[in-house]
Amino acid sequence: MTLRVGVIGGGQLARMMIAPAVELGLDLRVLAEAEGMSAALAATATGDYRDLETVRAFVADVDVVTFDHEHVPQEVLRALVADGVSVHPGPDALQFAQDKIVMRKRLTELGVPQPEWAAVSTLAELQEFLDAHTGAGVVKTPRGGYDGKGVRVVRSAEEARDWLDALTDGDALLVEELVPFVRELAQQVARRPSGEVVAYPVVETVQRDGVCAEVIAPAPGASARLVEVAEDIGRTIAEGLGVTGMLAVELFETDDERILVNELAMRPHNSGHWSQDGAVTGQFEQHLRAVADLPLGSTAPRAPWSVMVNILGGPVDGTLESRFGSALAAHPQAKVHTYGKSPRPGRKVGHVNVASDDLDDAVYVARAAAAHFL
Ligand code: ADP
Repeated sequence: MTLRVGVIGGGQLARMMIAPAVELGLDLRVLAEAEGMSAALAATATGDYRDLETVRAFVADVDVVTFDHEHVPQEVLRALVADGVSVHPGPDALQFAQDKIVMRKRLTELGVPQPEWAAVSTLAELQEFLDAHTGAGVVKTPRGGYDGKGVRVVRSAEEARDWLDALTDGDALLVEELVPFVRELAQQVARRPSGEVVAYPVVETVQRDGVCAEVIAPAPGASARLVEVAEDIGRTIAEGLGVTGMLAVELFETDDERILVNELAMRPHNSGHWSQDGAVTGQFEQHLRAVADLPLGSTAPRAPWSVMVNILGGPVDGTLESRFGSALAAHPQAKVHTYGKSPRPGRKVGHVNVASDDLDDAVYVARAAAAHFL
């Protein structure tokens, strides 16, 4: 019997599960938000993932449900579980990726290193936190933020007055110390419902304007201790939160080599795109194996270095495909992945992976190939 995997959300992450699903002989179905989305090649339905009956109809003929994003409401997820549907990651785990305050509380209980933080709902509470932390902090809306939206560095509580005023009763904002990080890292692990966990090498991620621009795998210059600490954090969170599927842990590295958790994603993640071409098992295949409770694949790198460069925005004239000829001819080492999205400033429309024996070479080729699409 072919196992049927239903993916809620029709973005590029669902799209990139299609090829590995075919290879594994899984029947992949996608509930897309609209027609013509990135995962349209596999989309079997379109509809609102917040509507329980729409989701129920979609999952009626799949064996396991997973996600392209974390936005399916808890009520919907819990109703599916009550219906007997196999949901991975399940609502108990996913809540920690849906709400940053809920995550901070749980990671504190688990003893995972993270920035100092508080939940605040008044100007006075926020100012008190800032005064106690060098006068600055990072204020975050706990839910619905992405790519730096919903994140604001403030030096006085007044700078967050609009967000505080917009809070409804019982709600709060998250405030964190402004971490003096030297770079950002990401640790990915995969966990099966039956408990097996595998870890990828820790990677360096480079953000521009709050958006991931480049990833280097493994993180250059990472000491054995750093590699071990990062992996341990990933495993502790996956097990402690009961995550199933891929987990990405975004991390800050400080100048005294401390590692602090920034946030979590419970799905394939931009920081893991390099693994499609740079690891024995890419993260999209690994996610499918994990949610289907199949044995996990090797995470070993296929080359000493892998570099991923996002194609942000895309060409102002024409499609990405119109640039294939020049890019592929000039850089046969580069692997180009496109998302079937129309170009728009700042939008993630594709990425380039290069695996190489030489880091400088990989960085050069990946950037040069990506530049053909701008
Ligand atoms: P999003 O959910 O939008 O990805 P993040 O919480 O990851 O938001 O924050 C976006 C970026 O803001 C991070 O990648 C980092 O560069 C910066 N940032 C977030 N929190 C802090 C912090 N506590 N200290 C310093 N910089 C931070």
